[in-house]
Amino acid sequence: MTTREHCAGLDAVDPLADFRARFALPDNVIYLDGNSLGALPKAAAERARNVIGEEWGAGLIRSWNDADWMALPFKTGDKIARLIGAGAGEVVASDSTSVNLFKLLSAAFALRPERRVLLTDSDNFPTDNYIAEGVGEFLGPRVERRVVAADEILAAIDSDTAVVSLTQVNYRSGLIHDMARISAAATAAGALSLWDLSHSAGAIAVDLNGAGADLAVGCGYKYLNGGPGAPAFMFVAERHQQAIRQPVSGWMGHAAPFEFAGAFRPAPGIGRMLSGTPQVVALSLLDSSLDILVEAGMGALRAKSLALTELFISLIEQKCSGQGLELLSPKDPALRGSQVSYGYANGYGAVQALIARGVIGDFRQPNIMRFGFAPLYVRYIDIWDAVQALCAVLEGAEWKSFPLREGVVT
Ligand SMILES: *Cc1c(COP(=O)(O)O)cnc(C)c1O
Repeated sequence: MTTREHCAGLDAVDPLADFRARFALPDNVIYLDGNSLGALPKAAAERARNVIGEEWGAGLIRSWNDADWMALPFKTGDKIARLIGAGAGEVVASDSTSVNLFKLLSAAFALRPERRVLLTDSDNFPTDNYIAEGVGEFLGPRVERRVVAADEILAAIDSDTAVVSLTQVNYRSGLIHDMARISAAATAAGALSLWDLSHSAGAIAVDLNGAGADLAVGCGYKYLNGGPGAPAFMFVAERHQQAIRQPVSGWMGHAAPFEFAGAFRPAPGIGRMLSGTPQVVALSLLDSSLDILVEAGMGALRAKSLALTELFISLIEQKCSGQGLELLSPKDPALRGSQVSYGYANGYGAVQALIARGVIGDFRQPNIMRFGFAPLYVRYIDIWDAVQALCAVLEGAEWKSFPLREGVVT
């Protein structure tokens, strides 16, 4: 049987333990929702004060030059690149994941004009499906959406496939797609691969270039800790950057935005993926947050993340078995992202009861209790305490006090 002392011992030798103090975490909260909204780094709060008070307030328009605001999409992009196995100049940060997906899916069809099929899996994240639908309507009958089960993707790739568009880590179960195999199969068939890294970036070790991936998007406010509504990112492999064109061809994607030329001429390189003015305040926060992840390194982060999820699953088996929890995440750590999900009939109420006890996870329809483990600030003793709380909630039927309400952000 594992004990709390054993968990405290793991914290004592945790090479990432000191990173927790860099976050402004509230007292008496165990935060297991960094997969949905990452916690606040103290450096990001400090940077926010500076960018608002000094750069904007005092510098005014001079800060476009003095504070190099225009470079932010590229500077943050290069930091993200180091976390996802991309090279410098292959990633930019801007807009939202949804908008970036629209741009890259549209661009993928322009790169493969003779092909019709957008291949995805039936358990993809809703916005990915909605955007795929939107791209289909936008481009008309030349796009056919083909949706298959996650384990049928490889078999479904063929000579009609223009782009295979998948979320690498499933948002519900945490199951990891085999990026290297699927990207290689797409390449072999002449298709492109497009990966949504929203639940991967900062959570698992991603190697886009090692896998031969073509395109990717991802979210800035989850494991990257960029803050609510933080800019998302786009990756375009260097070999595609000469040819790629995207439909939101605004002035920030122009080769020379301040020439105010009459016609659009795409910037050389990844800059052509941009559209409008950079979100300076939000990008500045993201920029500070990324420094922490780059310093910690994805190898150490993944190792701790796996130890945390493994401990959580094993403690639940030891302490809450027989309470009707169904593990929905892979038992095999190699296939598991940085989250653990359980199916539970009264999952919504149980998650609310846990939050009332200071243990913050989240709920996903229809019955999923989801717990995310951000290795920069979650401790091993937090896992112990969270499992104690969960067992108490289930044994005491505390979920009864929290009936499901419509229209709330869960
Ligand atoms: C969180 C998430 C998004 C977020 O999209 P936004 O447009 O940034 O709101 C997109 N895709 C996946 C897979 C996600 O997990």
